[in-house]
Amino acid sequence: TSLQSVETAQTPLMRQYAAAKQQHPDTLLFFRLGDFYELFFEDAHVASRELQITLTARDKERAVPMCGVPYHAAEAYISRLLRKGYRIAICEQMEDPKLTKKIVRREVTRVLTPGTAIDPALSSEQNNFLAAVSFGENVAALALLDLSTGDFRAAEFTGAQAVALCLDELQKASPSELLVPGQNPLLTQKADLPFAIERIKTKTPIEDWVFTRDYAVPLLERQLGTASLDGFGLSQHPTAAIASGAILHYVRSTQRVELGHIDSIRFYERAEHLQLDQVTVRNLELLEPLFSEAGSATTLFHTLDCCRTPMGKRMLRASILRPLLNEQTIHARYEAVEFLKNDLILREKVRQILEGILDLERLLARISLDSAGPRDLLALAASLQHLPQLQNALTGIDLSLWKQITTRLDTLEDICAKIHQTIQPSPPLTLAEGGVIAAGRDEELDELRTLSQSGRQSIASIEERERARTGISSLKVRFNSVFGYYIEITKANLANVPGDYERKQTLVNAERFTTPELKDYETKILTAQERSVEIEKRIFAELRREVLDHASRIRKTSTAVAEADLLANFAHLAALRNYARPQLATEILLELVSARHPVIECLMEEQSEGRFIPNDLYLDVQGPAILLLTGPNMGGKSTYLRQAALLVIMAQMGCFVPAAAMRYGLVDRIYTRIGASDNLARGRSTFMVEMTETATILNTATERSLILLDEMGRGTATFDGLSLAWATLEYLHAHIGARTLFATHYHELTILAEQLAHLKNLRVAVKETPQGIVFLHAIELGPASKSYGIDVARLAGLPPQVIQRARHVLKQHERSERNNVAVETAAPLQLTMFTPLSQRILDRLQETDINSLTPLQALNLLEELQSEI
Ligand code: ADP
Repeated sequence: TSLQSVETAQTPLMRQYAAAKQQHPDTLLFFRLGDFYELFFEDAHVASRELQITLTARDKERAVPMCGVPYHAAEAYISRLLRKGYRIAICEQMEDPKLTKKIVRREVTRVLTPGTAIDPALSSEQNNFLAAVSFGENVAALALLDLSTGDFRAAEFTGAQAVALCLDELQKASPSELLVPGQNPLLTQKADLPFAIERIKTKTPIEDWVFTRDYAVPLLERQLGTASLDGFGLSQHPTAAIASGAILHYVRSTQRVELGHIDSIRFYERAEHLQLDQVTVRNLELLEPLFSEAGSATTLFHTLDCCRTPMGKRMLRASILRPLLNEQTIHARYEAVEFLKNDLILREKVRQILEGILDLERLLARISLDSAGPRDLLALAASLQHLPQLQNALTGIDLSLWKQITTRLDTLEDICAKIHQTIQPSPPLTLAEGGVIAAGRDEELDELRTLSQSGRQSIASIEERERARTGISSLKVRFNSVFGYYIEITKANLANVPGDYERKQTLVNAERFTTPELKDYETKILTAQERSVEIEKRIFAELRREVLDHASRIRKTSTAVAEADLLANFAHLAALRNYARPQLATEILLELVSARHPVIECLMEEQSEGRFIPNDLYLDVQGPAILLLTGPNMGGKSTYLRQAALLVIMAQMGCFVPAAAMRYGLVDRIYTRIGASDNLARGRSTFMVEMTETATILNTATERSLILLDEMGRGTATFDGLSLAWATLEYLHAHIGARTLFATHYHELTILAEQLAHLKNLRVAVKETPQGIVFLHAIELGPASKSYGIDVARLAGLPPQVIQRARHVLKQHERSERNNVAVETAAPLQLTMFTPLSQRILDRLQETDINSLTPLQALNLLEELQSEI
């Protein structure tokens, strides 16, 4: 392997490399050589492929493949590798090469991984989660940490479904890295990796002992600074605590700094939120588009996001995935939104102030992880500066939620002032050259600066003086970092150089000299400079420490800002798009008046494609609990279904909704079984996926759930599909009674309304004109009169002959259906259907002239027909 060939390469440098690589075998090792980070062997192949950089070789025999990136540009390359799922170890030079004759000491100072990335290239709208899962007896837990914001959460699941629920939650969080116990069966059974895990690019095995109560729990307690986990609701949930502890273990071992900004954890159980499983999140395009070519404009997140701050955007995403279940909380949000909706001036003011607040969480994280420069601290201060205004604007609102937010909003003026007192208004990027710390902050620093300032002035005056003294008008006094201060004289003027000049360096056209006086100033200036950089670094570190001492205040404020942004955003949408305030009901019903699909409405408006047709909906577990929606494809069935679910999600987030009115009882979970989904990629047949999803619904839905079934049964032969759809509807009606929307093109199902009291037929309105059908996109009572498949096919441009022939075949089928099969309502599964199979047999019989058959031919025909069944 590559390590062995390193051993054989036997130069001291390569031995050093091999040692570092051995300690970090699963990483790409960035090995610092002067101004470059170099990668060797297999790492070099990977990096040159992924980064499109040239592969070279270290030695003459070309046995050591190598490629490199300049150290000052490394961050961008590292970001790209992290996004692709690689882990990277940075091996730095620990001594100044100038100061040592031997090989420079090198050490791995940081390990960067996709799940612990904090670089500026991260998307500000999304969290970058590191995840860990842990399993116990009938219990599964998940912990998530976004190191770049300090967002730390854990969840625990129990019961027979525990693992499945946990993996579903994991998939929804879409972490960029997952930690798994070394011996975990989920990882070792490679053949059948759960999809949730398979999709995560970076999976990092962690030794089993980390995932133990004795190790992980105290680690977590120490980080949170508490003696017990009671305050975080975690003490009764050791499995979740273990997963959280494992995350801390990993982050500490890769980052090697204090994690000051991680001081709390949010524990949640599923019951606290409206449950949306991963299938539903995808089907409803809540966060990601189903077809990525279309861009993100089709997602609910995109449609609802007019947030002003990155914290607000991330909170919006999180709220979409976890709408509320608590009536009081939801009600309080409606009140808060309503108030700002009605006060345009205040709303705009608040949103404008928010605009000036940068990503407090990410800035804090950079400071905490010691990767913040002077400008990051200034950016923090600049953001904090807006907080008093924000508080001022919000204080007047006499509503409990706004008061609560205002109280939680700490204006942090002390920190802001501290930063402004400490750092210059426009500091350089780094501390290396000094000039970062403001004047008046430190007496000694000010003195040193005056000293080097006057030194520089003296040197400047030397130039004037020496020119006069020597008569050389081109004489220059200059500085460079290698030779220090010098007097430069061109070759032509060398004859006039005075005797007290000492030669320092010879160039092609000039000579450089120094004088005792110049040397003296130089020492003074350079020592002053060195000393002041030292002081500046110390003061900067103190400032960083001080800011971190208040990390929890900043984080709390950041959450308050996010919430203010979210609510102001809802108010803005409500006013801008004429959204209505939903009304909570105690009854389990869902009532929509003139409702619109939030996403399609916006898209149509943007593209000036006419107006979205509003529709009503009424569902009530007391009946009608099930709406059976029939009508032609393209009539608007899916849209109607999705619209209902989206409005419920929005309502339970505390957002107003695109409707004239909405009344609803809380929904505990939304189930969707929509169309033929894109699960084929996972190697399961569409039909199998469909049935698995349907099984989940029938096994776990409650009376409070909302169920959407679209085109159920499409993945199999017509009669199978119809029968399954039929039986499913009966079961839902008899055993679950949840609010259900069922869209289908099997108009045979509509007669179920005669038997099932709580099932009602709806159809999409279609206007028949001589030119063909026109979709009105209106939903009306009653079953679809017929299937319009052929009309839709005509709209799609099928050749006229095919359309004519299809009409003919259809007529024949309908006739034979009427003649042959009686509608037997008591035993519905035997009803009204012909299959393509029986039709063939009928056709064969019809075309046979029995009088001309011999007995043998008749027997053969019988056998042939039997074999077809
Ligand atoms: P189906 O599920 O019946 O095949 P869809 O719901 O996919 O039909 O809708 C077909 C097309 O009609 C979509 O392009 C959709 O944007 C449009 N549409 C659906 N409902 C409406 C409506 N209420 N107003 C305007 N356009 C609509």
